[in-house]
Amino acid sequence: MNETDRQQGPRAQAPLGAVRHDWTVEEILDVLRLPFPELVHTAQSIHRRHFDPGTVQLAQLLSIKTGGCPEDCGYCAQSAHFETGVKATKLMASAAIVAEASRAKDGGATRFCMGAAWRSPKDRDVDHLCATIAAVKGLGLETCMTLGMLTADQARKLKAAGLDYYNHNLDTSPEHYGNIITTRTYADRLETLAHVREAGMAVCCGGILGLGETERDRASMLRELANLAEHPESVPINMLMQVAGTPLADAKRVDALDLVRTIAAARITMPRSVVRLSAGREHMSEEAQALCFLAGANSIFVGAKLLTTANPERSRDEALLSRLGMRAEMLETP
Ligand code: SF4
Repeated sequence: MNETDRQQGPRAQAPLGAVRHDWTVEEILDVLRLPFPELVHTAQSIHRRHFDPGTVQLAQLLSIKTGGCPEDCGYCAQSAHFETGVKATKLMASAAIVAEASRAKDGGATRFCMGAAWRSPKDRDVDHLCATIAAVKGLGLETCMTLGMLTADQARKLKAAGLDYYNHNLDTSPEHYGNIITTRTYADRLETLAHVREAGMAVCCGGILGLGETERDRASMLRELANLAEHPESVPINMLMQVAGTPLADAKRVDALDLVRTIAAARITMPRSVVRLSAGREHMSEEAQALCFLAGANSIFVGAKLLTTANPERSRDEALLSRLGMRAEMLETP
């Protein structure tokens, strides 16, 4: 970029903040490379057009079926391909899931996310989970599930049972994807996302930083997300939690400022989406988390555990939000 471009922002003819679905990788690279103060200021300005900057959504995640997954996602403690010490469990009973949801609600969570380590659910599992969804909704919580790949029919059934959100991440760029996962394709992921949309559910879809990707890969992943026909309502941005036994156990930790840049670019390219600061907070300073909020993150996971990896204690989160003068709130997706 020349000096004028720097002052005006990338592709000055396309004002930043417009809801677009035609981003190029080069444009997003330009955003990621903006001078840090300008990047954060731009992201925060866009954030304020769509959200109250003082609120953060809390979501709680429960692993309802852990480990033994046949997929080979190179970062995951739950893959049966790697020796990680995670013990495989059966799908939890509905009553036990609902009891956990009730505890999460008492703790202030407004959405309850349930994750199962499957390639894809069996139809009988979907039938079982439909009753669970109805019971969790009955508590007054928004519901989200991540169960792997879905058929169109399974997506319709989950929607009919009252499922609000389905999480299915793209993880990384299409170019880098094959280095991380070989047991399902990028196209498979996009197909499940299409089934979720067709069924009328909201989409939670993001990715992970720290998988050995380049800056261009990050831009390319954001381009895939931002160029979906509808932006995902929730965009989780995770930092790799290195797990012993996985191929990425020794991957280099992501620079916190690169995470802030990626969150800002997600906010700029998907202005109305809730951007979730997800896995990796355990390793972040409170100052870095505050910068993420400034850059447009407005959701966090709460609770001491994220599926199988650690997360900051709830009391620490409350203390941080209080020090920042921020409130935990239910956010309506605009
Ligand atoms: S990320 Fe999900 S699909 Fe991949 S191995 Fe882990 S549980 Fe299985």
